[in-house]
Amino acid sequence: MAFIQRRKSVTAKIGNVRVGSDVPVVVQSMTNTDTADVASTVQQVAQLARAGSELVRVTVNNDAAAQAVPAIVEELEKQNVRVPIIGDFHYNGHLLLTKYPECAQALAKYRINPGNVSVGRKNDDNFRAMIEVAIRNDKPVRIGVNWGSLDQQLLTRMMDENSRSSEPKDAREVTMDAMVESALRSAQLAEEFGLPHDYIILSAKVSGVQDLIDVYRSLAAKCDYPLHLGLTEAGMGAKGIVGSAAGLAVLLQEGIGDTIRVSLTPAPNGNRAEEVFVGQQILQSMGIRSFAPQVTACPGCGRTTSTFFQEMAEQIQSYLRTNMPVWRGKYPGVEELKVAVMGCVVNGPGESKHANIGISLPGTFEEPKAPVFVDGRLMTTLKGDRIVAEFIDILNEYLDTRYGSGKTAEVAQV
Ligand code: SF4
Repeated sequence: MAFIQRRKSVTAKIGNVRVGSDVPVVVQSMTNTDTADVASTVQQVAQLARAGSELVRVTVNNDAAAQAVPAIVEELEKQNVRVPIIGDFHYNGHLLLTKYPECAQALAKYRINPGNVSVGRKNDDNFRAMIEVAIRNDKPVRIGVNWGSLDQQLLTRMMDENSRSSEPKDAREVTMDAMVESALRSAQLAEEFGLPHDYIILSAKVSGVQDLIDVYRSLAAKCDYPLHLGLTEAGMGAKGIVGSAAGLAVLLQEGIGDTIRVSLTPAPNGNRAEEVFVGQQILQSMGIRSFAPQVTACPGCGRTTSTFFQEMAEQIQSYLRTNMPVWRGKYPGVEELKVAVMGCVVNGPGESKHANIGISLPGTFEEPKAPVFVDGRLMTTLKGDRIVAEFIDILNEYLDTRYGSGKTAEVAQV
């Protein structure tokens, strides 16, 4: 693993998960089901947890959702899905948390957005009510500022002060300052109301990469609360993935960030767990944490006229991903495994030797045979139409020998 000096923070406890600089960076996600629909929400939480999400947030937006939370948590326990459930509250959190004490108790953490809970207005009563529920139930909170719902009174005041300054900043800078101020001021208030210092996590999400970097650098320099990182409303597909990776990578490299979420917009009927895989991949690509075996595959070129090697890389990747929930328990350390699937002799053997197991498929005009390398040595050469199945047999044998108890691993269908 790469050595990155983490910014020093206190450690908060969210159910059975710890978050802070003394523990590895945690990946979290959020459901998009109607929380009141217990069955669908349980199913999606379980899907996210099995993909590796270590915390899962659900929206708690109305009475029906608040009433459903205890049933969701109970059903997850029955299914042995032990992931802390976080309640996301906006506008009416003070009402729901006081009206539904079982909901307040069942949740592992409350996310409070100070921009819409009246911090700074009405004597902060709504915010105080939520903090008091957290204290009564021994729950941490995330004070999650979002620039789409930034405290407008605070922003207006800071803009006014800035305009009177002899060296006024530009509006963007003042907005970033207001986000940091909103998060820190709310955290201070929460502590004044009695919430312990290590029960608070902060976030300040924006949708632009440079803004994200600036706001988190500033926040990180001004406090020792654990920080939750994420580009808000990252978007769909490549845009969301690349934007999140670009912003998070810079901050993580500087040691900033104790939990992350990649807020992808899924394609219709797309896999919600994709955001978990992307979050894990960001951390693993940076050498911060390992979650799953990695497949190194070349991009292909004019030397690979067939799609066979692309299909094989996809099949191997999918085989590894499908089996990881079982392998995690069965083969400790398997997440460090490196597999190479290469398209021709140019880089194939070399890259395969760098992997734990690698196969170099024949390119155009090459002899139709595929050398397989195990821990840097040529182990065998595969031929014919059973190359994928035979390679998977070798992979399974390797897993058993290196990470397992010596029993032959079951070969799954790909
Ligand atoms: S390894 Fe071979 S097939 Fe793959 S990109 Fe390089 S030259 Fe092309």
